[in-house]
Amino acid sequence: VLKDFITAFPRESDMEVVTTDTIQLKVPEGSTAVLLKNLYLSCDPYMRWRMSKHDEPIYFPDFVPGSAITGVGVGKVLDSSHPDFKVGDYVWGMTGWEEYSLITSTEGFFKIRYPDLPLSYYTGLLGIAGYTAYAGFHEICSPKKGEYVFVSAASGAVGQLVGQFAKLMGCHVVGSAGSDEKVNLLKNKFGFDGAFNYKEEPDLNAALKRLFPDGIDISFENVGGQMLDAVLLNMRTHGRIAVCGMISQYHNLDKPEGVHNLFYLITKSIRMEGFMVSNFFHKYHQFEEITAQLIKDGKITYLEDAAEGLENAPAALVGLFAGRNVGKQLVVVSHE
Ligand code: NDP
Repeated sequence: VLKDFITAFPRESDMEVVTTDTIQLKVPEGSTAVLLKNLYLSCDPYMRWRMSKHDEPIYFPDFVPGSAITGVGVGKVLDSSHPDFKVGDYVWGMTGWEEYSLITSTEGFFKIRYPDLPLSYYTGLLGIAGYTAYAGFHEICSPKKGEYVFVSAASGAVGQLVGQFAKLMGCHVVGSAGSDEKVNLLKNKFGFDGAFNYKEEPDLNAALKRLFPDGIDISFENVGGQMLDAVLLNMRTHGRIAVCGMISQYHNLDKPEGVHNLFYLITKSIRMEGFMVSNFFHKYHQFEEITAQLIKDGKITYLEDAAEGLENAPAALVGLFAGRNVGKQLVVVSHE
């Protein structure tokens, strides 16, 4: 549970694990609720916004201090009076950071159609992160074979997949990440053509010029701030920037760092477009089918960083903002 609302970088001590009274493992009579045993929980950067109090919520409601944190997770149905979900089904959607959750609204819940694949993939590759990468790249970036693509926070849950979807399209892909270990993964595991450690680059503009001597056609923005500014200087005419996230600013959304080079949107006729993955949920099953096949054919690879046990969930969540996760950060509540 979140102890109280925060205003700066999140810390492990902002959260605590509490034990509550045992709940009855049955759905209430006359409801359409679903009782879940939570198996895997997703740690996501947007959860930082929800740790602060907002007069007007930013898309998702603020967490309720003292109550279980909510987020996307994978669970097994233990009891159900809902016609679409049966006992024994595996599902993913918005659940609680707790062992068992009573789900009273199943809006945005999906039944898992490929339970033969690792169920944890539905916290990432076959869930929000994967669909964000897929929809963001294909729907927002209008990619063409041979184009030059840049991905920031490239080794993370979303970034590693944007790079792989771009390679499958025949693009030239370069990513940035915050350690030499991650740069190595980008080049040698995820098949990026180039990569750099942004923490070792005194001048991000010079780094992008070195890796993109002819400029960038598509930039998939996960970081914001100085990285976005450097990207704007290196875009080609008629380039596209998909604004997926701005993790460098989430602790400071009241006074985000300024972006100074927006003028180049005009002179280079660049299209910069933000998006929410939920805009595309109506096509989710199509994505699930395509990606499940890519996994089965060995055409896509995925790296997860799994923290074992709810007691390690606060550290796992906070680690996203220090780059401690290597790949998709998730929490294992129970393997079955
Ligand atoms: P990641 O798995 O990429 O984890 C976050 C990573 O961000 C860290 O590992 C770290 O990697 C990097 N990072 C943290 N702080 C900074 C910083 N100050 N400057 C630069 N990099 C930083 O997370 P996700 O893949 O889940 O999310 C990536 C982005 O996508 C986020 O911005 C998120 O909000 C956004 N998103 C947007 C969605 C949408 O619908 N628009 C849906 C899902 C995600 P490193 O070591 O490389 O610094």
